[in-house]
Amino acid sequence: MIIVLRAHATETDIQTVSDLVCSLRYQPRIIRGVEQTVLACIGDELSNLSLEVLKTLSAVESVFPVQRKFKLVSLEYHQEPSCVKIKNTKIGCGGIPVIAGPCAIESYDQFRTSVSDLVDNNIEIIRAMPFKPRTSPYDFQGLRLDGVKIMRDIKDEFDVAFVSEVPGPAQIEILSDVTDMYQIGARNAQNYDLLEQIAKAGKPVLLKRGMASTIEEWLTAAEYLVVNGCSDVVLCERGLRSFDKTTRNLLDIGAVAVAKQLTHLPVIVDPSHAAGTRSLVLPLSRAAIAAGADGLLVEAHSDPVNAFSDAAQQLQSSTFKDFLDQIQPWIDLAQKS
Ligand code: PEP
Ligand code: MN
Repeated sequence: MIIVLRAHATETDIQTVSDLVCSLRYQPRIIRGVEQTVLACIGDELSNLSLEVLKTLSAVESVFPVQRKFKLVSLEYHQEPSCVKIKNTKIGCGGIPVIAGPCAIESYDQFRTSVSDLVDNNIEIIRAMPFKPRTSPYDFQGLRLDGVKIMRDIKDEFDVAFVSEVPGPAQIEILSDVTDMYQIGARNAQNYDLLEQIAKAGKPVLLKRGMASTIEEWLTAAEYLVVNGCSDVVLCERGLRSFDKTTRNLLDIGAVAVAKQLTHLPVIVDPSHAAGTRSLVLPLSRAAIAAGADGLLVEAHSDPVNAFSDAAQQLQSSTFKDFLDQIQPWIDLAQKS
């Protein structure tokens, strides 16, 4: 950490701050300038107490941490990109897999038709959402246990992997025998108790970025998963809350490129919840691939116009091939470079 003292700090001030730094188990190196003195404090910021408490001293102008709050997920710690295997599909190993499926499971027929259409297009990981954490308690909350039963029936028929959102600790166990990957949604992205519990459940986790999370908070949430025993983590950018309502969320394409420079974890993009509108899903998907995304998470439904949730943004599953064909040149280019 770097401590900048106020201009013209006295020798007594410097000594007092430096003694406190030592008592917090850092070694201070004093750098004297013409007006200001700076203390470079050597010590592990992750295992020691933060020196930020010293900001309250009258002799201290500012305190800057130099270490990041995440370690295990960082590219410095693990220099090879991580590859996460979900059943037969690998994410983060050079391919750009597309995960697809409806916003929610609404009925046996709706889910079966959607899955069948997507499997016909070689989609290997399906969104299977029996639980829908919604902003309003009056909105469709998912079929819950009936939806889990539908998942079991469909799983017996199709050789696919499922990714399912876990709204709370109770659903970890309920989904454990039927889903292949747990999803932490944007609203739970900083629910640290849930992150700790899900990390111990022994399955890969798809971690959405919170709608108001900084990139550091997103990666630190991933650190919760890894430090608690889950090494198969896939990050997912899905757009931030913004002042402009033209798109549902502001897709932070820059965050994809930044995350790829900071972490070894795969980074995928959900263009659907960022777009909010069907016609924007294709351009946002292309932008995501161009920015270096390791995959996409796309909503596709057998009858999107009549969907119980997110009707405006879901693609038609029966014509999903058109979407795949239209992103293919971007995938080819990304893989060439
Ligand atoms: C979802 O993927 O089903 C979802 C609700 O997305 P988010 O958590 O990003 O809003
Ligand atoms: Mn949705």
